[in-house]
Amino acid sequence: MSKFIFVTGGVSSSLGKGLTASSLGRLLKQRGLRITMCKLDPYINVDPGTMNPGEHGEVYVTDDGGETDLDLGHYERFIDESLNRNSNTTTGSIYSSVIAKERRGDYLGKTVQVIPHVTDEIKERIKRLAREDVDVVIVEIGGTVGDIEIVPFVEAIRQFRRDVGRDNVCYVHLTLVPYLAPSGEQKTKPTQHSVTELRSRGIQPDVIVCRSDQPISDALKRKISLLCDVPVQAVISAVDAPSIYEIPLAMHDEGLDSIVCDILKIDINERPIDLTSWEALVYRVEHLEETVQIGIVGKYVNMPDAYLSIVESLRHAGFDHRAAVEFVWIDAEMVPSEIESEHLERLDGLIIPGGFGERGIEGMIAAAKIAREQEIPLLGICLGMQVMVVETARDLAMMSGANSTEFDRLTEYPVIDLMADQADISDLGGTMRLGAYPAMLVPGSVVATLYGAEVVSERHRHRYEFNSRFKTRLEEAGLVCSGSSPDGRLVEFVERPEHPFFVGTQAHPEFKSRPDRPHPLFQGLVVASRGRRAGREPRLLNLDTVR
Ligand code: GLN
Repeated sequence: MSKFIFVTGGVSSSLGKGLTASSLGRLLKQRGLRITMCKLDPYINVDPGTMNPGEHGEVYVTDDGGETDLDLGHYERFIDESLNRNSNTTTGSIYSSVIAKERRGDYLGKTVQVIPHVTDEIKERIKRLAREDVDVVIVEIGGTVGDIEIVPFVEAIRQFRRDVGRDNVCYVHLTLVPYLAPSGEQKTKPTQHSVTELRSRGIQPDVIVCRSDQPISDALKRKISLLCDVPVQAVISAVDAPSIYEIPLAMHDEGLDSIVCDILKIDINERPIDLTSWEALVYRVEHLEETVQIGIVGKYVNMPDAYLSIVESLRHAGFDHRAAVEFVWIDAEMVPSEIESEHLERLDGLIIPGGFGERGIEGMIAAAKIAREQEIPLLGICLGMQVMVVETARDLAMMSGANSTEFDRLTEYPVIDLMADQADISDLGGTMRLGAYPAMLVPGSVVATLYGAEVVSERHRHRYEFNSRFKTRLEEAGLVCSGSSPDGRLVEFVERPEHPFFVGTQAHPEFKSRPDRPHPLFQGLVVASRGRRAGREPRLLNLDTVR
């Protein structure tokens, strides 16, 4: 039977519940337990697919095409297990199934209410994750205890312990212990209030994780223990870490995984922890010798979380090549006039990330042109690849005004377009290519060499595609189509073999990079960027150094 850990948060949002939950997941995995994770989000959107990344951060995509909260990215990067669309549930999706059941008559004429119908639906979603091959399900509840929207979720997880038995549930509560400079003290009152709020909903936390900028002293731990009625070992100090990948080791030193195992009656002597590989990773993280500066030319640059997986993927690649990646955010809307060649030329490498809508497009096209002409390493991701194609069409293949029909429906040269079977859709909902698709790479190409494989699988989230009608003309202009769908219809990768690194992919490789298994395309970009920084001649990408 699976055990369940519920992670709630109090006092403030953005305390790092997702990272705490993920770190705990990794520690338990290193004890040989089989883990899965899930996020319950109290907002009313059915999934985050429709939410503005500038407000909510990136939409993370799972192999099965789920459009999910960005915390699932942290989960996958930390526990290194593939999650799926069921790993993220929102109030909107709960209500839409409850209402569908009501319409079908499933409730047999009963009055449909938050308790028990909505809470049952929530519990059902959690129980679904408890499969034969899962020892522990870690469930993070989004938002903060005390929010109006969170109440049904807190009620559901309260009932849960009764349903599955005391020893099968552990409640972990994350709070903030602020340091007040005038009094020179760390304050426990917000923690006390937040625990009181949780208790008023019937949940007594088993473990309290205290976020703070300085370690929590033993005396303070005793105070929290006394006032919040948890054993002193269950008060965990979680200090800001220089790198998120150091958090699991810090949490282990604080005894988080042991106390959780104790509560869940998992015998830690039978399950000794092996942290060797994670320690080796942290060693690499802490011993970066050089810096590379990578520019990200996008439109959500005021909200770096909109590009979270790209940022992490670049860091991962840096860990393997002893390079700390410094990010330079370039607002695509400033350009083309202000994306000056000299500004970009100072950078070691560039990424043009994914995106939707016209805003900033011309700036991205200008950046692609500069990268091509000035031999700046460039990785184009999804929209970024489309931009590389448009730029080649306009500047090298004599297709003036070439564009994606997303931005110019009437262009004479629709080099990026909807597929014929999509062309007459009026409702764009549900028409995206989502989730994992295989691609065949051209032997000997830059991408095939980087991947070290000729068949790869990557996750997608887009509606428009490379228009194969223009393939020959674009190839004649030097843009090689180096990967395609197995049936040959869709172009998945493009590259410019004569350039130090000019690679575009229609997919989102950033969702598959792991801290200890950096993605080959990001490695390629980091190695080429390092080479540029070292001031070597162009053609510096020595593929042997990547693999
Ligand atoms: N807007 C483009 C499309 O729909 C690219 C999407 C993306 O970058 N994720 O095809």
